[in-house]
Amino acid sequence: MNDIIIVGTGFSGSILARKIAEECGRQVTVVEKRDHIGGNMYDEYDQYGILVQKYGPHFLNTNKYFIIEFLEQYGELFPHDTHLLSFIDGGYVQLPFNFRTVQQLVGPKKSESLLAKLREAFYGRDRVPILELVDHEDPEISEYGNLLFEKAYRTYTSKQWGLQPEQIDKYVLDRVPMAMSFDARYLSKDFQYLPKEGFTALIRAMLDHPNIDVRCGMDALEHIAFDEQQRRITYDDRQVEMLIFTGNIDELFGLKYGRLPYRSLDIRYTYEDKKSILPEEIISYPQAVGYTRSTEYKKITYGLDQDIPVSMIATEYPLEYDPDDEKANIPYYPVLTEDSQKLYARYVAEAEKYGNIVLCGRLAEFKYYNMDVCIEHALEKFKEIKGRIERA
Ligand SMILES: Cc1cc2nc3c(=O)[nH]c(=O)nc-3n(C[C@H](O)[C@H](O)[C@H](O)COP(=O)(O)OP(=O)(O)OC[C@H]3O[C@@H](n4cnc5c(N)ncnc54)[C@H](O)[C@@H]3O)c2cc1C
Repeated sequence: MNDIIIVGTGFSGSILARKIAEECGRQVTVVEKRDHIGGNMYDEYDQYGILVQKYGPHFLNTNKYFIIEFLEQYGELFPHDTHLLSFIDGGYVQLPFNFRTVQQLVGPKKSESLLAKLREAFYGRDRVPILELVDHEDPEISEYGNLLFEKAYRTYTSKQWGLQPEQIDKYVLDRVPMAMSFDARYLSKDFQYLPKEGFTALIRAMLDHPNIDVRCGMDALEHIAFDEQQRRITYDDRQVEMLIFTGNIDELFGLKYGRLPYRSLDIRYTYEDKKSILPEEIISYPQAVGYTRSTEYKKITYGLDQDIPVSMIATEYPLEYDPDDEKANIPYYPVLTEDSQKLYARYVAEAEKYGNIVLCGRLAEFKYYNMDVCIEHALEKFKEIKGRIERA
């Protein structure tokens, strides 16, 4: 065992492992409790050769090109604009909600004045959160905002989070905007890419360094011990110089202040003997009972598997995270409420007592990080870690 221990092999743990190994010339041990690397970006080929993202569909999108350049060191990427449709009132409408959706939902005649008003009210803005429409002083805009909110948003959000929309942190609500144009790309960022060989291959290349020792199928918590008096951390009785933790922070401290809330997903797969099943790569179902969206993975891969005679859809059923439940034992989305943030702050204070714990990533920092933010954040954290290693 080395003295720098990294827990988790998602982007956060893998980027930090590579940077420390390469730029600090230090040996690191990376411990992963799943039997595979890659965290929630993990993908694998199914029995037909379709590349399936086991923990839900992931699309890399960023306004910062250095993120793409950073990842290209570990594998080839290809541009891919993500497209979604929403199934509302028996028909498909454009998602993101955009000017086309206005025409689809209110009809072309009524849309004429509404589109003019939206252009004027949100002049120069690319995307606007739905709540801004709801709260707008113009009754026509506000009525349309409410229509979207009621038909598509309230039900989807309630299913996704198991909460009423007003109980959820605004940061999460801001994630579903309306495009102030006919822009049909689901995500608005300038650079949208996918790794040609998949995310797992990219992360495998990142972890492939002589200074990195990866141990999968090992729960780090069974090996880590805290000495509260001495403020010491050991791993298998050996003193740890630095513990970089990307897992659930509440679990790191034995849930001593209680469990942080997460939403989980039960992802169910359906195969059909057809080359194509859905009209678009992802369909969202705000009005359906129990499930939120379906992904047809064949439509988002590089095109190499288009001749496969079958196709598959993965449908997401949101559930409350429960580590003891067979279907709900993966923490997907942190539930950001005032209470959960306070609870999280107590765990951070606990970690700070030791002085050598680095918390990084969506679980350890209890934040909804998109991959681009997660990558940039890990690169920033590395600068801090490098300084500490050099000073030691
Ligand atoms: C359904 C879904 C869809 C998403 N789609 C997108 C998208 O389209 N675009 C985008 O930019 N972002 C997306 N994201 C966000 C993206 O998944 C995160 O940014 C990314 O996973 C964060 O990586 P991470 O390394 O911080 O965490 P993770 O990938 O979760 O890695 C943490 C790792 O730590 C391991 N671990 C935890 N505890 C222990 C332990 N005790 N011992 C050993 N190992 C442990 C876990 O097994 C896991 O492998 C999506 C997220 C979800 C949930």
